[in-house]
Amino acid sequence: MPYVVAVLAVLVSLILVVPAAAVEVRVVPKAPRQGDTVLVFVAGTKGAQNVEGSLGAQHLAFFPYGAELAALAGVDLETKPGKVPWRIGLVDGGGVPRKAAGTITVKTGGFPVERLTLPGGMVNLDPEAERRAANEAVRMRALYDTVTPERLWRGPFTQPVASRKPGGGFGSRRIINGQPRMPHSGIDYSADRGTPVVASNRGRVALLGEFFFAGRLVALDHGLGLYTLYFHLDGVAVTEGQMVERGETVGTVGTTGRSTGPHLHFAAQLGRARVNPPDLYTIPVRD
Ligand SMILES: [Zn+2]
Repeated sequence: MPYVVAVLAVLVSLILVVPAAAVEVRVVPKAPRQGDTVLVFVAGTKGAQNVEGSLGAQHLAFFPYGAELAALAGVDLETKPGKVPWRIGLVDGGGVPRKAAGTITVKTGGFPVERLTLPGGMVNLDPEAERRAANEAVRMRALYDTVTPERLWRGPFTQPVASRKPGGGFGSRRIINGQPRMPHSGIDYSADRGTPVVASNRGRVALLGEFFFAGRLVALDHGLGLYTLYFHLDGVAVTEGQMVERGETVGTVGTTGRSTGPHLHFAAQLGRARVNPPDLYTIPVRD
């Protein structure tokens, strides 16, 4: 029966080349604004290994999410509007390398611009302060580049302080005496001096500092490249390296550093991307 054997051989080879389940990727939202947080979901990854990927220059760090995997990525508030590529690579349960790629379209954040004219002495730093601020910025960048390989946060993120009115000011930019300043990369909550400031989620106290602009600060590492920052504190209630739970007091509202009155400046970083912190409060969580 050579004919039957040949047909069987063809059938067997057809079965062998049928691809395993495709890698299904969903990026939410597909058209984020500057400063938005993006969730990348990967399905069909049962038994997969070495799942990795990127969004723009940002490395994606995946964590289990129900039957899928998910990663958080940030669209920095100064990302140029337009297309940003993403790609995912993994080795499936059968040992076959698989890939997926696509793009998202970043829209403008529509942040307000405020033009001010002030006496030069009020806005220009003396060289020593300039050097200090530059060194502190380098320290913060080094922190954001440090990725703890496990996810430390659990459940929803919460607003870290009770405030009189909704926080605001994310992304706003000041042009002082014709010179553009750094955009405001956090959200300001107005509250009385001494009001408790709590951890927005579980994490490790990665840095305590007394910085020129930020004043007394706490930086929490939530793992997988996500940090939250608490600036202008009056007092600090934690020590470096300590684990804190969501809702645990990390300090009190103050007006230290460059600040015009008691308030909490709350910021969030995903790698080097500065993102709008309240976006974290609405991440659909599975734990
Ligand atoms: Zn602020």
